[in-house]
Amino acid sequence: MAQRVLVVGASVGGATAATTLCAAGIETIMLERELVKAKPCGGAVPPAAFHEFDIPQHLIDRKIHNCLVVSPSDQQAHVPVAGSNPGTDDYVAMVRREIFDHFLRERAQERGATLIHGTLTGLQVHATGVEAVYQDPQGQEHRVQADVVIGADGAYSPTARLLGLAPPPRAVAIQERIALPPEQMARWEDTADLYLGHEVSPDLYAWAFPKRDHIAVGVGVGPAHTKGIKQCLENFKRRLGSALDGGKLLLREAHALPMDPRKHMAFDRVMLVGDAAGLVVHTSGEGIYWAMKSGEMAAQALAQHLDVPSAENLRTYEKQWWKHYGSMYTFLRFLQAWGYGNERQMEVFTEMCRNKDVQRLTFDSYMHKQMAPAPWKAQLGMTRDILVSQVRNYVWRRPSQRRNMLPVS
Ligand SMILES: Cc1cc2nc3c(=O)[nH]c(=O)nc-3n(C[C@H](O)[C@H](O)[C@H](O)COP(=O)(O)OP(=O)(O)OC[C@H]3O[C@@H](n4cnc5c(N)ncnc54)[C@H](O)[C@@H]3O)c2cc1C
Repeated sequence: MAQRVLVVGASVGGATAATTLCAAGIETIMLERELVKAKPCGGAVPPAAFHEFDIPQHLIDRKIHNCLVVSPSDQQAHVPVAGSNPGTDDYVAMVRREIFDHFLRERAQERGATLIHGTLTGLQVHATGVEAVYQDPQGQEHRVQADVVIGADGAYSPTARLLGLAPPPRAVAIQERIALPPEQMARWEDTADLYLGHEVSPDLYAWAFPKRDHIAVGVGVGPAHTKGIKQCLENFKRRLGSALDGGKLLLREAHALPMDPRKHMAFDRVMLVGDAAGLVVHTSGEGIYWAMKSGEMAAQALAQHLDVPSAENLRTYEKQWWKHYGSMYTFLRFLQAWGYGNERQMEVFTEMCRNKDVQRLTFDSYMHKQMAPAPWKAQLGMTRDILVSQVRNYVWRRPSQRRNMLPVS
């Protein structure tokens, strides 16, 4: 039998893994349960994704060139989207996932992957291969054999669950797509908002991301606060106030986000990528680029070891991953704990967003996935500004904006 890989989940991570496998000449099957509805998502994508994965620009709804960061006390930081070498490539792309995912899935099929519409319900790993059971949309059960399975099936990963792996801690994010009159949309022409404060998110943030024909207004909360998430969203809409006047609700959507990477992302004949591997980064909740990158890296490692797909061989993927991105994940985890830890820290975080070196470092790492250390002068300046801001906010408490907002548990 020719060697064959089953990819469960044909969203950003799975479709990228499948495209990479096909390029290596490997027979690839994608199994996807949902071919119409979009994955709930803010749809903010860095330019690196468009370059590295050769994605056409016409999939972009808007290019964001400015961010507005608003603290609990309504301090504002206006942050231009620009890295160390400002240029036309400095932007945050806003996409709609139904369009973006559809493109990636179709491209994987064009490159040779077979797409099956069905839901994974069973998985057995044997010494000589894997057997997956799935239900088609009519409820009929089918079986498919493969040499290796890649679980690209999201935060609840049925692949990981069927293997008996414990779930990672999960945050939850909820968002509403709201159509606004053109004069209201103009406010968000090329600007995305990020709001901080206990009532809109006790430990992450709230966002307003403009799309071609609507604004996506959402909040994310950590595992300890998921029960209060609907209240957080209501509070956020109240905080946006008249900016949403005349708005028409198009869709409300919510989903989990993994908060921690898994200890292992590869096992005998099994690999996990994207949210299934827990690869969303802290601070931003960014997961699209990381799902695509891990899909590509897993597929490349698998192509090298398909003859002997043991846990030991397949773990070259996770070794490569942590070699490239370990320090960045550690830094962003620290930044989330530090910047969103309490409302005083959120004030400090907002003030730091005004620092030019912080802006440059943030956007170099977000847009181009480069983490170069700052020159020592910049490091000294940032350290001084952080200390001054810490002292100021701990000596004097700024009043939070809690007008018309209900407390969140
Ligand atoms: C509200 C919200 C906003 C977000 N905003 C952003 C953002 O602005 N930018 C960003 O970078 N990230 C954002 N994220 C995170 C991002 O959406 C995820 O990190 C990303 O989609 C992960 O991609 P993935 O391919 O690993 O998994 P997913 O995109 O979750 O895809 C998993 C796929 O597996 C399929 N599947 C699941 N179970 C089965 C089964 N049993 N059988 C067959 N198929 C199955 C699903 O249908 C799905 O297509 C957001 C997340 C949420 C919840």
